[in-house]
Amino acid sequence: MSTITLDTIRKVYSGNVEAVKGVSIDIADGEFIVLVGPSGCGKSTLLRMIAGLEDVTTGEIRIGDRLINDVDPADRDIAMVFQNYALYPHMSVYNNLAYGLKNRGMDKAEIDRRVKEAARILEIGDYLDRKPRALSGGQRQRVAMGRAIVREPAAFLFDEPLSNLDAKLRVQMRVEIKRLQKALKTTSVYVTHDQLEAMTLADRLVVLNGGNIEQIGAPIEVYDNP
Ligand code: ADP
Ligand code: ADP
Repeated sequence: MSTITLDTIRKVYSGNVEAVKGVSIDIADGEFIVLVGPSGCGKSTLLRMIAGLEDVTTGEIRIGDRLINDVDPADRDIAMVFQNYALYPHMSVYNNLAYGLKNRGMDKAEIDRRVKEAARILEIGDYLDRKPRALSGGQRQRVAMGRAIVREPAAFLFDEPLSNLDAKLRVQMRVEIKRLQKALKTTSVYVTHDQLEAMTLADRLVVLNGGNIEQIGAPIEVYDNP
């Protein structure tokens, strides 16, 4: 767990597109922040800069006390959850969860502990021997989240993780993420254009518009003051 500090973050893409115009947010340890706003307002650019998938033009990003502007994405102690999270079809659920940890040379006992802990939290412990094709859509989505959880990162970044799911599954997974948030209390930044998702999940909402923060506050404050 950790704080995330965004200090006057700007992003100028080539062609002089200023996608993010000096955004500052102090994210508390364990806080769940949701970024909302119209298409093109800079949500994914901001998220991708925290992940290290885009360079920051000016400004500073810290995780805890550590300045991470120039740190490799893989070394930022962050896990991302995407909408199209491909599982390895030929591997069991267990190995899907263990794969990244094995690649990092982690010892077997620690891998086993992490996989079983994630499976317990996600309630997929009974499916560890199955291949992804033998799972429902919701179970697959949980395995995908499990791959982020086993990393035991300082923070989670969610890039519209539910946008490709059908309506019923979206609601289920929204509840599931809320439950995980309570259980894990990991600092999170979540991008969505779904207002209900934003209101359900956010400790604080950040409304972006044209690369600036338009409003920031608890969901009830933001949606009471349109
Ligand atoms: P959102 O996630 O809120 O839809 P984005 O962060 O994707 O917004 O985009 C913010 C702005 O930056 C938009 O004007 C978009 O066209 C522009 N943009 C995004 N990615 C690039 C890129 N790779 N090159 C140039 N402009 C980009
Ligand atoms: P896996 O996709 O199974 O986790 P790896 O850990 O080998 O496999 O991932 C390859 C690279 O991508 C590594 O540099 C790893 O740090 C990074 N990576 C993997 N999963 C994530 C994630 N959820 N968020 C951020 N980086 C990740």
